[in-house]
Amino acid sequence: MAEKLDNRTELLRQIKDEVLALNKSPLYAERIKNGVFPVIGEGSHEARIMFVGEAPGKTEAATGRPFSGAAGKILNELLVSVGINRPDVYITNIVKDRPPGNRDPLPEEITIYGPFLDRQINIIQPRVIATLGRFSMEYIMRKFSLEKELKSISQIHGTSVTTQASYGLVDIVAFYHPAASIYNQQLKETLFEDFKILLKIGN
Ligand code: URA
Repeated sequence: MAEKLDNRTELLRQIKDEVLALNKSPLYAERIKNGVFPVIGEGSHEARIMFVGEAPGKTEAATGRPFSGAAGKILNELLVSVGINRPDVYITNIVKDRPPGNRDPLPEEITIYGPFLDRQINIIQPRVIATLGRFSMEYIMRKFSLEKELKSISQIHGTSVTTQASYGLVDIVAFYHPAASIYNQQLKETLFEDFKILLKIGN
């Protein structure tokens, strides 16, 4: 069921409180040991576009802000290139705590944190969900029963598919993860090209 539209901030705050207290997560003990923060998400609670990354890295866990490190710098450049103000979108991850050493999130971690992302989607009700990287692409496509459209990211990056969410239509678009382009100029150019689709969808 779609959440009511009028109390988004309160519903998002509840998610934050629950994640802060999530001691059943194997990543909780790491967070406490390292004195860092979970990364819930930031941006407009009425965003038209929601970006979904993988999991916080070192800078993100230190600041509590998504995409605030090297990958975030590239995301910022990509947003500027298509004239989108970062505060107008909502940016989050599937996994809300940092996996040690920036390893890939484990399936059980995605299972624990995924429902929080599901709730964020239902609260914010974006018209576009833009996935950053393979893990969020797979999670979001499966969530919307788009297994048949699910191909490798090298095949579907920069393309969109429209589907039905509980609150209306949503366009899903898969992008490469910005971190993958840090040392790969070709991939960075592809990302800039792919981002132009954000000017055409979700209207
Ligand atoms: N990579 C991600 O997937 N998310 C972040 O917030 C930062 C880096």
